[in-house]
Amino acid sequence: MIKNIFVRLFLAVIIFMAALIGCKKEGGSGSGPLLGKDDAAFAIYENSFLDALWKLNPDWATSVGYHKYDSLLYIPNEQSRQKMMDFAKVQIDSLSRFEPNTLTVANRIDYKMMQNQLDYAQWQIQQLKAYEWDPSSYNVIGTFAYILNEHYAPLAKRLRNFYQKMANVPLYYKEAEKQIKNPVTELTSLAIEQNLGGVSVIEKDFADSLKKTDIPKAEKKQMTDRAALCAQAIKAYADWLKALKNDHPRSFRLGKDLYEDKFKYEIVSANTAQQVYNAAMKRKKYLHGEMAKISRQLWPKYFGNKAMPADTLQLISAMIDTLSSKHVKPDEFQSAIEQIIPKLNAFIKTKDLLTLDPSKPLVIRKEPGYMAGVAGASMSGPGPYDKGGNSYYNVGSLAGWSPEKAESYLREYNQYIIQILSIHEAVPGHYVQGVYANKAPSIIKSVFGNGAMAEGWAVYTEQMMLDNGYGNNEPEMLLMWYKWHLRSVCNTILDYSVHSGSMTKEQAIKMLTTEAFQQQAEADGKWKRVSVTSVQLTSYYTGYKEIMDLREAYKIKMGDKYKLKEFNEKFLSYGSAPVKFIKEAMLAKDPVSKD
Ligand code: ZN
Ligand code: ZN
Repeated sequence: MIKNIFVRLFLAVIIFMAALIGCKKEGGSGSGPLLGKDDAAFAIYENSFLDALWKLNPDWATSVGYHKYDSLLYIPNEQSRQKMMDFAKVQIDSLSRFEPNTLTVANRIDYKMMQNQLDYAQWQIQQLKAYEWDPSSYNVIGTFAYILNEHYAPLAKRLRNFYQKMANVPLYYKEAEKQIKNPVTELTSLAIEQNLGGVSVIEKDFADSLKKTDIPKAEKKQMTDRAALCAQAIKAYADWLKALKNDHPRSFRLGKDLYEDKFKYEIVSANTAQQVYNAAMKRKKYLHGEMAKISRQLWPKYFGNKAMPADTLQLISAMIDTLSSKHVKPDEFQSAIEQIIPKLNAFIKTKDLLTLDPSKPLVIRKEPGYMAGVAGASMSGPGPYDKGGNSYYNVGSLAGWSPEKAESYLREYNQYIIQILSIHEAVPGHYVQGVYANKAPSIIKSVFGNGAMAEGWAVYTEQMMLDNGYGNNEPEMLLMWYKWHLRSVCNTILDYSVHSGSMTKEQAIKMLTTEAFQQQAEADGKWKRVSVTSVQLTSYYTGYKEIMDLREAYKIKMGDKYKLKEFNEKFLSYGSAPVKFIKEAMLAKDPVSKD
């Protein structure tokens, strides 16, 4: 998981409003190099677009590290949606004054991403209408937690912004109540859980932080008084939801048409959701075949003369279960992960898979307290406005866990999987992708960053490393990777089957436990996730598949000049753009070099 993408999803509804200047294209032909002029004008336009975007989306701005509007809180209602519609129309008009084919490749991709985002915003308001049926989209707490926990400015300054931002919290929730109609039951429960779960940030953490400052006593009192009113408003919203009479709740299933559209805007794929689903079904079958072969081959080594299960899924499951017992002790978990990173770096250098930038080292750290709960490991990369910042590989501690819980967790994150996890999260997965993305100077790509590209790259690198011999070509390693990879594949199948079809909880759990070899707890968690999100779960496999398809096409284009390292670096050089747009750029006939 990448933290900044998570934050953006948490802020779910992307809303931008208000009008802003359009940059007119220099008219006509003949007067000098049009390309140079348009790119300069486009850069100016992008900056003004972004500032307006942030002013109208202060929460989103805060989460990407743009802190000018930290004290503002946006009120969700019909008027603001109308302003947003107006804004989108004005911006689409402004964009249309540029001719994308005269822009540099980097700007052309920005152009397409902005256009897609504006179309998406309109579609969300006119078609999706989540503001009516998703009570969990109303939650102010994430941004307040960010302001408290991220040390981007002196504490007293951050707390005063926190205080000002709180002024509109009661109105925010009053307006939220007016927007909700026949909400989804699962999302109503989630809203109650998340709002009550986070209220301590306002009620307690804020006051604790105030004690660490020399803000005058009287001012402090004003600040804590307002916090009390805010906490009350949040609890009142939860109470209102609990008491809400909801005889005709909307189904949590998005439905086929909305799903296809959302997939189109969010993933920006060359394929439809249906096509990706079909490919995932094929992939699952292929993986089961390969896993059965390996399991048969390994059986005598681990089970001697014991009879092999006739059922292939049972055979694979028994093999995975046995291999999962190879894991570290709970108190060795962090150091085990720390030791993997240098091994990965060395392997990439030896095999010459891509260039690693030694000036942007990855900092491995114990997971900070406020992130606790996200056990395992995750990446925190620098935001788009803080490109010089550190990249952290956050490793969770298992201290204080019950022996049973730790054992189950360590079997899941066994000796094989912690290596694959580190490839995915760090090297050459999310961390390396982030370093390359920060070299492509585009705020647009960072803030509208494509999740399927980022997740697809991380999944792609797992396979790329193994294909090049990481893990000494051990069949055990490959079998465990296939199991891990099945998770991405089945995420796609699950998401599509649930939201575009009618897959039941029972069918879903059965698929995840018997066909993807997941533990019951993991499968239960996945069901919860699919019942409150849609499309995001498809990003891993969709991105992976599109990168593999692109690499095949690129091999054909380059012929004997093809080099894996060159492919990897070129692919990453475009930043966090949809694979579809990178593909168009990489497969375009190069006008400069002659064949
Ligand atoms: Zn990931
Ligand atoms: Zn064990």
